Amino acid sequence: MAYKISDDCISCAACESECPNQAISEGDTIYKIDPAKCTECVGSNPSSKCAEVCPVDACVPDPAHKESKDQLLAKWKKLHPGETPKA
Ligand code: SF4
Repeated sequence: MAYKISDDCISCAACESECPNQAISEGDTIYKIDPAKCTECVGSNPSSKCAEVCPVDACVPDPAHKESKDQLLAKWKKLHPGETPKA
């Protein structure tokens, strides 16, 4: 499932450059994740980079966007045409 950024976000921007899919951007008050681009890092990393680097644990799975690993991998392939998945 896609990740989301909770209200605990302190807008430090640590996550933005870590996302392999450029899914994270600055919102009006806090950072946000585009669920159409978030693959839970499937295809790029063994675990979610944004969650790893967030100092306040604001990057969390979004139950509103439940997807299987196969669906996440298919999304990754659309975002990275011609590349081979690493994870
Ligand atoms: Fe990007 Fe991975 Fe975080 Fe999703 S879980 S927003 S792909 S860094």
